[in-house]
Amino acid sequence: MLDFQLKVLREKFTTRLQENVQLKNYTTIRAGGIADALLIVYDADELERFTSIVWELDIPTLVLGSGSNILVSDQGVRGVVIINHAHNISIHRRDDAYHVHAEAGALMSKVARLAINRHLAGLEWAATLPGTVGGAVFGNAGCFGKETSHNFIQAEILHRYKGKNKYTNQDMVFEYRSSILKRTEERCVVLTADFSVCPGDREESETKVETYRQRRLKNQPPGPSMGSIFRNPPEEKAGRLIEAVGLKGATHGGAEISSQHGNFIINSSNGSAQDIWYLIQVIEDKIHQKYGIFLHPEIELIGDWDAQTMQKFAQYQTIQENA
Ligand SMILES: Cc1cc2nc3c(=O)[nH]c(=O)nc-3n(C[C@H](O)[C@H](O)[C@H](O)COP(=O)(O)OP(=O)(O)OC[C@H]3O[C@@H](n4cnc5c(N)ncnc54)[C@H](O)[C@@H]3O)c2cc1C
Repeated sequence: MLDFQLKVLREKFTTRLQENVQLKNYTTIRAGGIADALLIVYDADELERFTSIVWELDIPTLVLGSGSNILVSDQGVRGVVIINHAHNISIHRRDDAYHVHAEAGALMSKVARLAINRHLAGLEWAATLPGTVGGAVFGNAGCFGKETSHNFIQAEILHRYKGKNKYTNQDMVFEYRSSILKRTEERCVVLTADFSVCPGDREESETKVETYRQRRLKNQPPGPSMGSIFRNPPEEKAGRLIEAVGLKGATHGGAEISSQHGNFIINSSNGSAQDIWYLIQVIEDKIHQKYGIFLHPEIELIGDWDAQTMQKFAQYQTIQENA
């Protein structure tokens, strides 16, 4: 960031601006370097206002929710990171249709919980999902056979040049763990989103959630992670392939491929982002050697990674079966 940009940021945001902030504290894997500057926003208006100011200054901007699907470089992030704590949620009824309106920093689990408490069904799958509404919409998060697109009605989205617009489900062009927002170069910011729910039996919803909770407890290893590292290839499970090549339990530095679930990397001993990236490459190489498949990462690399790493990551993102 240029000196004059930092000066203007200090003037505009005074005590709200934090400088040289350890980003590992804002990620679930607990790794990564320092952000030049960081702002925390507490409602959707603030998110819109703060983002617009930083964009106007032409400073690189990154909006994060819970940081549960990203690997931040040990070299950190240049520019401003905006941590989204805008978390208001309300329920609305139009004729016989109900929807939940949530600010993008609300946790998906809280959105689901509020609906269930009001005897509204349909979001039970999200009750155990880590992360915020913004992260879920951006990456079409899903589990237990459901995904964000199944409930998504519309979102208010801020575009750097086109301003604030409503995006319908169709506009989002959702795909498996992806949306139009993830596939476009120009970063947009989800301000709020609406999800469909319908009248249901609260006890039935609670039973479903408990089943999902138990499944997570059984299958998901404890410790700092980003959830599943790779998408499942068609008709396969990434975790099974990783187990089949004998990589479960492998370690590098402070990071480890979980011995419980091969598709999880755990930051068990204060590992660096580089340790984790190293293990990701080991998995890619072994699976490619044995099966001719590049596993497609679900997570994103964020910040100052070197060009070679970014090139490799982009290569992994293009699934090449039997290459
Ligand atoms: C233990 C564990 C289990 C998990 N299980 C699942 C699972 O079952 N299914 C699943 O799909 N995922 C799972 N994940 C991954 C993660 O929870 C989801 O991808 C989640 O939706 C990410 O939300 P987030 O708020 O943490 O996003 P972040 O990690 O903060 O951000 C991810 C991306 O979204 C962008 N983003 C965030 N907020 C906004 C916004 N308001 N506007 C625009 N862009 C935004 C960021 O810039 C970044 O590019 C798991 C993760 C963990 C740690």
